[in-house]
Amino acid sequence: MNFTQIKNLEEKYYSQVFSRHPVCAVKGRGMYVWDSSGEKYLDMFAGIAVNALGHCHPAHVLAIKKQAETLIHTSNYLYTTPQLELAELLTKISGMDRVFFSNDGTEAVEAAVKLARSATGKKEVIAMKGGFHGRSMGALGLTWSEKFRHPFEPLVPGMSFVDYDNAGKLEKAITKNTAAVILEPIQGEAGVILPKDGYLKEVRKICDDNNVLMIADEVQTGFGRTGKMFACEHENVTPDIMCVAKGLGGGFPIGAALFRGIDFGRGQHGGTFVGSPLACAASKAVIETIIKDKLVENSAKTGKSLMDRLASEGMRVHGRGLMIGIDVADGKKTVLDLIEKKVLTINSENTVRVLPPLIIEKEHADIFVSKIKELKDERKI
Ligand SMILES: *Cc1c(COP(=O)(O)O)cnc(C)c1O
Repeated sequence: MNFTQIKNLEEKYYSQVFSRHPVCAVKGRGMYVWDSSGEKYLDMFAGIAVNALGHCHPAHVLAIKKQAETLIHTSNYLYTTPQLELAELLTKISGMDRVFFSNDGTEAVEAAVKLARSATGKKEVIAMKGGFHGRSMGALGLTWSEKFRHPFEPLVPGMSFVDYDNAGKLEKAITKNTAAVILEPIQGEAGVILPKDGYLKEVRKICDDNNVLMIADEVQTGFGRTGKMFACEHENVTPDIMCVAKGLGGGFPIGAALFRGIDFGRGQHGGTFVGSPLACAASKAVIETIIKDKLVENSAKTGKSLMDRLASEGMRVHGRGLMIGIDVADGKKTVLDLIEKKVLTINSENTVRVLPPLIIEKEHADIFVSKIKELKDERKI
């Protein structure tokens, strides 16, 4: 099938809900993706911060193969060891004490909010302006963007917003009915927005002082993305509930709510597919490889040098580790211009988001910088 035929199929049979890049991916290896006409692209967004080990990493593929040959699904009526081994590993690296698995980030947020309500007996959750937590009817109530929310109202009651990176406004917004505060340690979909140093610590203190749970949505920032295993570690903050997903499965769908000091009552939550042996085996291989190959350290180091070099080329960059935003005049156009140069990124409005696999090496960063430079020299940026 050529690209025109592929496009026609999509237009005819698939919901027209997605705005896609003009590329049909057919194969991936490491830092690269190949399209239907055999062109090779440098992947600098990792399927939205998901392919932590790049594409088809041997350890990931082997774990999936082995588990697929052994046991794929049984439901949570039965015990399965990949689930419990992954749960143990996650608590060890996060400082939390229990895990509930989900199928994605949105469901991790749903679990977190249900847990916050049931554990505190309070109803209200405060989220942040600019924040993104998913698009289900529950998570959407915590997602700021008007264009995502408006057509689907009324949403779940009891959810409100305050300014991000403003501890004073948060403190004022808390009432005796506040169950939890939810926030991203760095806002991702908003365009890689970093709060001031010390903000997360202040949020932690406000939550402690008011007996309110702190939910850190690390769906995008988790597993080394920002140069620490979890972004809250930059400020030595431990939330009460942490939501994770994206990088966790390295491309195999899985998410989790991690929590400490609280738990669901038996039967309060569930899911047919959650924590399947296959998803958990895939995910365990991802985390073990991140640790063994020191990919968190690589994220910090390569991310910093990439940001420094982009800045020295006169680009307006902001971010941490391998979660980088570049502010440009026209975000969408720059992403398309980069695709012409065989580099894949995404944009939030006029911020190009650079979220490469954590396996990125200097040679890949060099290619990216040189392509950005070309765009500048051509006066396209
Ligand atoms: C992507 C994202 C979600 C939603 O995760 P899905 O896996 O798409 O459901 C939630 N929170 C944050 C911070 C995200 O970046």
